Amino acid sequence: NQEELRCIGCGAVIQSTDPEKAGYTPQSAIKKGMANDELYCQRCFRLRHYNEIAPVSLSDDDFLRLLSQIRDTKALIVYVVDIFDLNGSLIPGLHRFVGDNPVLLVGNKEDILPRSLHRTRLTDWMRQQVNQAGIRPIATTLVSAKKNHQIEHLLDLIEKYRQNRDVYVVGVTNVGKSTLINQIIALRTGVKDLITTSRFPGTTLDKIEIPLDDGHQLIDTPGIIHEHQMAHVLPAKDLKLVSPQKELKPKTYQLDDSQTIFLGGLGRFDYLNGPHAGFVAYFDNNLKLHRTKLANADHFYQKHLGDLLTPPSKDELDKIPALKRYEFTTEHKSDLVFEGLGWITVPAKVTVAGWAPDGVSVLLRRAMI
Ligand code: GDP
Repeated sequence: NQEELRCIGCGAVIQSTDPEKAGYTPQSAIKKGMANDELYCQRCFRLRHYNEIAPVSLSDDDFLRLLSQIRDTKALIVYVVDIFDLNGSLIPGLHRFVGDNPVLLVGNKEDILPRSLHRTRLTDWMRQQVNQAGIRPIATTLVSAKKNHQIEHLLDLIEKYRQNRDVYVVGVTNVGKSTLINQIIALRTGVKDLITTSRFPGTTLDKIEIPLDDGHQLIDTPGIIHEHQMAHVLPAKDLKLVSPQKELKPKTYQLDDSQTIFLGGLGRFDYLNGPHAGFVAYFDNNLKLHRTKLANADHFYQKHLGDLLTPPSKDELDKIPALKRYEFTTEHKSDLVFEGLGWITVPAKVTVAGWAPDGVSVLLRRAMI
């Protein structure tokens, strides 16, 4: 009876139905594990054998229980966000669970930002956005987990602010938290130093505990699913295609008003009102941009969605929510941000509209130039 089986690493009930959930183990691995009397869930198996951490998602109940435990603990909270999907990275209601604990805000995927852009503008913006969500970070920093940039600096900040406390690393799925934790493990522990896994009491979730020098721990919490995230609006293969992987190469467009640029089939930019001017687009090179006349844009979209305007492909049209329109008039030079996709830098004193799949935010921030 499979209900009874538990992972000997983390104690999660073994299941082979949902790879995203705790305790997932493929059927073949269950057989093998039982034969060897060493049954680990896939997550713990990978951790043991490859020192690699896979994300799991959690139900709302488990998540709330986990967060309330953090509130009742004296800890430093390391809050990891994706700088390309900041709104999609925010953990709803986190401020209620922080209590008096300090929060260190970490913007990941810094390697994708062109060198010419001001980092402080970006960290200012990150701080503003989380302030609006009721969180006041004691410090804000940028890293690239993938490229191993600034991870040592992050560890220094953690040491500086944790002051004899445990450290909880929190983040929604897809912000790169696993990649970051794996880098920290690689930097901090030799193969000999076994990372321990244990349960969050009262939940079905396991946590990873990385020992720190003074007997305290750095605790990796499971990734949290955020519905309003490009990652959950797009089919996985499209997400791969349009998520920026390399440093963005800006493209400049000279536009007159009443012109439109399509971002594949996933977004749309309308220049509504203002003089002839330059607009700079920052998107992954795989996202094909198409310029057309505003007057013709609706028709063009209907006609070409899935062929010229792709992703989505023809067979995925029903999987993508309809585009929703947001209109802005700029005071200063600004970035019109399509969360999870990229942004377009627009001049001061113009009126523009941005469209994105319903659920994905479009917003204006001070230009990073
Ligand atoms: P998690 O769900 O938060 O644990 O995220 P993962 O660690 O699985 O990473 C999600 C995606 O973001 C993967 O495609 C990673 O390759 C990518 N990623 C993670 N860190 C970075 C980074 O520093 N830079 C870039 N460009 N991509 C990253």
